[in-house]
Amino acid sequence: MAPVGDLQNARCIFVVGGPGSGKGTQCDRIVEKYGFTHLSTGDLLRAEVASGSDRGKELTAIMEKGDLVPLDTVLAMLRDAMVAKLATSKGFLIDGYPRELDQGKRFENDVAPVSCVLYFEVSDETMTARLLKRAETSGRVDDNEETIKKRLKTFHNLTQPVIDYYASQGKTNAIKAEGTVDEIFAKVQEVLDK
Ligand code: ADP
Ligand code: MG
Repeated sequence: MAPVGDLQNARCIFVVGGPGSGKGTQCDRIVEKYGFTHLSTGDLLRAEVASGSDRGKELTAIMEKGDLVPLDTVLAMLRDAMVAKLATSKGFLIDGYPRELDQGKRFENDVAPVSCVLYFEVSDETMTARLLKRAETSGRVDDNEETIKKRLKTFHNLTQPVIDYYASQGKTNAIKAEGTVDEIFAKVQEVLDK
């Protein structure tokens, strides 16, 4: 592993928003324009599940319920992925993390400081509609009506404090994200360019 000191200098942006708020979609656009390294904790966890490991089986059970995976598991995966990309990265887009305030504090303590939080603000109705549409092709165990309800609840209860905490530090950039992908990306660029 690279010394922690190297990671400390990495540029990190947290990308936060409820399920289906468009984090992954906008991160693809950001990567295309700015060349940052995109790390989705959901994708990292799903890759672990796909590997068929015992740890993966435990993760599936948690994700099917719409609950959060234990902090240490996610943080270790994220950190390993960052170390692997550190030498070539212009900065990291951390997508879907932190999901709860402790995750944010632990990341800043153990990995690197965060420079900015992008928060995609979308109504529950819109998120639900997008996820049910995504369900047609995603094959994700958590894209179903019951789990979506639970995920939205988890988001409001646990992730809202993250948004508030970084807002109090002047780091949260809330983006109204109900429009088209292009309209939303225009707002994202305004934030990233300043
Ligand atoms: P997240 O990563 O936040 O869960 P995704 O980027 O996977 O969200 O988007 C969830 C679903 O909504 C996807 O099917 C995506 O195609 C769709 N979607 C994303 N952004 C928009 C948008 N601006 N308008 C309509 N649909 C969108
Ligand atoms: Mg996603």
